[in-house]
Amino acid sequence: MKHKIKMLAMATILMTSCGTGNEKQESEESFNYHVDRFADVEVLRYQVPDFESLSLQQKKLIYYLSQAAIEGRDILYDQNNKYNLTIRKTLEALFLNYSGDRQNKEFEGIITYLKRVWFSNGIHHHYATDKFEPEFSRAYFEMVVQTLPANVLPLEEYNGDVKKLLSAISPVIFDKSLYAKRVNQAEGVDVIATSANNYYEGVTEKEVDNFYNAMRNPNDSMPISYGLNSKLVKENGKLVEKVWKVGGMYSKPIEKIVGWLEKAAEVAENDKQRSVIHSLIDYYTTGDLLTFDEYSILWVQDTDSRIDFVNGFIETYGDPLGIKASWESVVNFKNIEATKRTEKICANAQWFEVHSPIDPRFKKPECKGVSAKVINAAILGGDCHPATPIGINLPNANWIRQMHGSKSVTLENITEAYDKASIGNGFNEEFVWSQTEIDLIEKYGFQSDNLHTDLHECLGHGSGQMLPGVSQDTLKVYGATIEEARADLFGLYYAADPKMVELGLLPNMDAYKAEYYKYMMNGLMTQLTRIEIGNNIEESHMRNRQLIARWVYEKGKDQQVVELKKRDGKTFVVINDYEKMRTLIGELLAEIQRVKSEGDFNGAKQLVEQYGVKVDPELHKEIKARYEALNLAPYKGFVNPVYRPITNDKGEIIDIKIDYTESFVKQMIRYSKEFSNL
Ligand code: ZN
Repeated sequence: MKHKIKMLAMATILMTSCGTGNEKQESEESFNYHVDRFADVEVLRYQVPDFESLSLQQKKLIYYLSQAAIEGRDILYDQNNKYNLTIRKTLEALFLNYSGDRQNKEFEGIITYLKRVWFSNGIHHHYATDKFEPEFSRAYFEMVVQTLPANVLPLEEYNGDVKKLLSAISPVIFDKSLYAKRVNQAEGVDVIATSANNYYEGVTEKEVDNFYNAMRNPNDSMPISYGLNSKLVKENGKLVEKVWKVGGMYSKPIEKIVGWLEKAAEVAENDKQRSVIHSLIDYYTTGDLLTFDEYSILWVQDTDSRIDFVNGFIETYGDPLGIKASWESVVNFKNIEATKRTEKICANAQWFEVHSPIDPRFKKPECKGVSAKVINAAILGGDCHPATPIGINLPNANWIRQMHGSKSVTLENITEAYDKASIGNGFNEEFVWSQTEIDLIEKYGFQSDNLHTDLHECLGHGSGQMLPGVSQDTLKVYGATIEEARADLFGLYYAADPKMVELGLLPNMDAYKAEYYKYMMNGLMTQLTRIEIGNNIEESHMRNRQLIARWVYEKGKDQQVVELKKRDGKTFVVINDYEKMRTLIGELLAEIQRVKSEGDFNGAKQLVEQYGVKVDPELHKEIKARYEALNLAPYKGFVNPVYRPITNDKGEIIDIKIDYTESFVKQMIRYSKEFSNL
């Protein structure tokens, strides 16, 4: 599971005028976090502290894994929609080769559209999953494309005919109703047939259900994640899986990934890590999901290596049924100082489980192998780039988590970049009720936020257990929201526990209040800045946050635990009683855990639909207007650093240098050129 950027306050960055052209090397002190700004997005840069202090062997390992992390980029584009790559290539051809007038609204609209495609790995918003609306006309687009030489356009599938290319992609770009939503989770429709992703073709939701239910054995205590690494299509009336593996679908990028993994295995830190890498190579080669489980177990057990990585088909948010996984990669290494924090939390995992306010039947009798660390991301790829999570907890298979534990990471250099880049942006002054809360947030916000992420990832997702016979996907479209709510609630509940001060994780019993205030402000109001007027909430992390905030607000209404107060026509969150708020959080945690453990679909549906989905249109308009006046970008993402191998005259690598000067546009163009695998 991924912990997406959770706090808008943290994720809101002052818009600056710095464009893409800042090419001079920044010194430590004046590190420039701001890279690019367009549409609703700001692109930032992150630092990789301590990279220089790694050994040459470790640096080589990171380098090889970072190459493997980018090789799968095209896979994700294709998974998100089957026209994404053709559209991206056409737009890139225009960007690189168009020799006509570029200084007009329409051409600028094309460039912005291209930047959005790069940012979202396709034509749908990375978060809302709605298709982008082009700010240029179809006639203009077709006119400029036709001025290009044929050899720069992706015409292989179109017999070299530009007209054929255009008649294929123009409707996809311009027809609003075609491929309108990448992930459709609406009620009462066929979510497979109406989702624009490329995980299924020509099949209905019912057919998918039947196909995979026939494979699953409900009594299997170690169920295979059927369907995780394939596209399901209908051929001659029969359902067939196109498996993503060497020799199968996506063979070329997967072969490249395997090539880098082989090099990585040669410089692995120890035998355990080497066997993890070999197991992953086996899985990519065979596509066998049993091997994937073996790999996941080996991966969980490797806690000694400083460098770690994820590379594969991991998260299922892009499939409304949660079966198919998008390709992603993160390479990272342990931040030794900050990891002491999470080690304290993990060492007390059993204590937290015992004291949790949930029904004893749903508690884990023994907490196995909870390992958590704070890391520095070294490279982000696939579904983790350019938009990136701030915490990751894997593997996703519940039975592996229960039998072997899970690994949880907090990406400290990413949260730090958010925090540093947001200083002085005016957000708190606009949305926070009074100076008291602003002071709390300034003093304790970063610390309590990181702690909440740690608790969410290290303990939240790993806590609790399912009742026997309840399968992982009983909650269907509500599953992800309920799971995220569970982890968030666990974190919120314990952030306010005196144990945090006792363990030295927070300085005093005021610090958690910063997190409580920010959470309620975000869940009740400010996250709405990310939603288009007229829409409801779709994304599961956002649903979960509103679910929690609304539920606590409603249940505490009689006692005025939390209020929404007006001042000068503006709405604010006011928390009157932090302790009662914690009690309510404990109550909701108990209920959400029950829903999860029992697989209570109707309970999940009722909670999510009643509290997590619907938006108050008046409040929505107000928040959007106030936010727009601040001129901030609601979404953030990152460019990666560039790793350059330095070789001696024999061609051997003698060092790896890290470079922070690449702009967003240059990085995207370079990736499209050097890692063009589909
Ligand atoms: Zn999570």
